[in-house]
Amino acid sequence: MIIQGIGVSKGIAISKIIKLKSESLTVTSEKIVDIEKEIAKFREAVNSVIIELQAIRDLTVKEIDEKHAKIFDAYIEFADDPEISGEVEELIRNEKYNCAYALNVVEKSYLKMFKSMEDGYLKERVVDFKDVIKKITSSILGFSTISLKELKTKVIIVANDLSPSDAAQLNKSKVEGIITNVGSKTSHIAIMARSLKIPAIVGAKNITNIVHDGDMVLFDGFDGKIIVSPSEEDIETYKHKRQEQIKFDKIIDTFSEKESYTLDKKLVELASNIGGPEDLSNAIKSSADGVGLYRTEFLYMNKTNFPTEEEQFRDYKIVLQNMKNKKVIIRTLDIGGDKTLSYLKMDKEVNPFLGHRAIRLCLDNIPLFKTQLRALLKASIYGNLSIMFPMISTIDELRQAKEILNECKKELQNEGVKVSHEVKVGMMIELPSSAILADQFAKEVDFFSIGTNDLIQYSFAADRTNEKVAYLYQPLNPVILRLIKMVVEAGHKEGIWVGVCGEAASVQETAAIYLGLGIDEFSMNSSSILTIKFLFSKLKYSDMVEISNECLNKSTESQVEKIISAYLKKIYY
Ligand code: PEP
Ligand code: MG
Repeated sequence: MIIQGIGVSKGIAISKIIKLKSESLTVTSEKIVDIEKEIAKFREAVNSVIIELQAIRDLTVKEIDEKHAKIFDAYIEFADDPEISGEVEELIRNEKYNCAYALNVVEKSYLKMFKSMEDGYLKERVVDFKDVIKKITSSILGFSTISLKELKTKVIIVANDLSPSDAAQLNKSKVEGIITNVGSKTSHIAIMARSLKIPAIVGAKNITNIVHDGDMVLFDGFDGKIIVSPSEEDIETYKHKRQEQIKFDKIIDTFSEKESYTLDKKLVELASNIGGPEDLSNAIKSSADGVGLYRTEFLYMNKTNFPTEEEQFRDYKIVLQNMKNKKVIIRTLDIGGDKTLSYLKMDKEVNPFLGHRAIRLCLDNIPLFKTQLRALLKASIYGNLSIMFPMISTIDELRQAKEILNECKKELQNEGVKVSHEVKVGMMIELPSSAILADQFAKEVDFFSIGTNDLIQYSFAADRTNEKVAYLYQPLNPVILRLIKMVVEAGHKEGIWVGVCGEAASVQETAAIYLGLGIDEFSMNSSSILTIKFLFSKLKYSDMVEISNECLNKSTESQVEKIISAYLKKIYY
């Protein structure tokens, strides 16, 4: 049987499965007599959960990185919240409730409060909150929560969903793969599986109802295809495929020190997308030519209040210094859409992706915008900085943003602060409006970086977080190819370079076609750089120009896919 999910972490997994049952804990109400004993029992459970969470946090730092470990700070905050504990203890004292029941009552009232909140970020934290309460309840009732650390044999884990704490506890050497019913490419488990290099598929609908413990399953985390009870032949084919992947990874490692040239000697720039200084080591390890996209919103999202000018300056300076004069493109705040800040009151919008997002929000919050621009300009003397504005839809927005940047420059100079004169200013092309008017925009910036994630979402009017319209994510559709071609031609005519920093830059088929359309720079997650470098080393730029031009005149994405897949097969085998 074949089930199609969403491949979120590449690699082939072949193994028996175990289903992770998210048993719901039954909590009953009992009247207690010894109040102090019950309170002590509750406090002991809370303490043990805090210790467990600290251990998971430490493990995450060791196995993944500091950024992912931060998820558990929020967990610990909930477990350690004096208000929650206070309310539970009050119920034990006044109502003589047993502690598990008192906690259950408090949980319900908090859930009600969360539900009535408008803030999207806080709403998302409900999952974390419930996970923490479940841990404390389990500890009171004497259950241990799922012990993923103690898996004895290699398995594929199948679950409805996995929480970040479940994921962090995975014993990497025992987990062949992960499949969940729900999730998207950007869900926590997807991000963590990629970081842990565990093959994973999410959105496999009701797989938990289809498979049973001990069933043999194989899947490819690249294409999202799951085979339940595979034949001997399937197993052999996939084992072979896995060997090929391992061989491939060894080969591409040898490309780490080389520049990215095509067979016919065209030099292509390959840069890293980063979310902060914590991603620098991977960018440097992958020998990136620079940072093509620094998404600064993480600096804001990991805080309980706006980061100060000084805090921002510190992070930007670290990145610029470590990249040692290589190009570093720092994008100004892109909040809104699916990214919210717990401490910024944002009106509820019916269509947040079409709403008050990114540059629109910054132009409406000048002090917020200026703080970031000042921090960037102050840091500019420490490296090779480019500032990039997101979601620009009109020339007026671009001009306003540039004017505010100039104001900041003047202010700093008047204050006697040194600012580099070499700072470049660019914009994301991620809306059809800016792509179509690229010839005009090109006169006013130093570079373009095409954000395919949004350009595709807005071209096809398909919410990028909605699984039901995921089929409209078509980076090879001639619609997108034509838009890219227009942008490249407009940019080159004005003598500026054009990059791509959306996910499509890291996928072999799209990178090859976009190269043929004339893209100068590809920016992607660091782990994909060597694969793309290897790909470019195998193909001829002149071939890609010819093929891409042919594809511009096709009518569907599948026609383009067929053409490029055939070419890639030819150069690889
Ligand atoms: C994009 O839209 O392609 C992009 C790179 O920006 P983000 O994914 O951060 O919206
Ligand atoms: Mg975008």
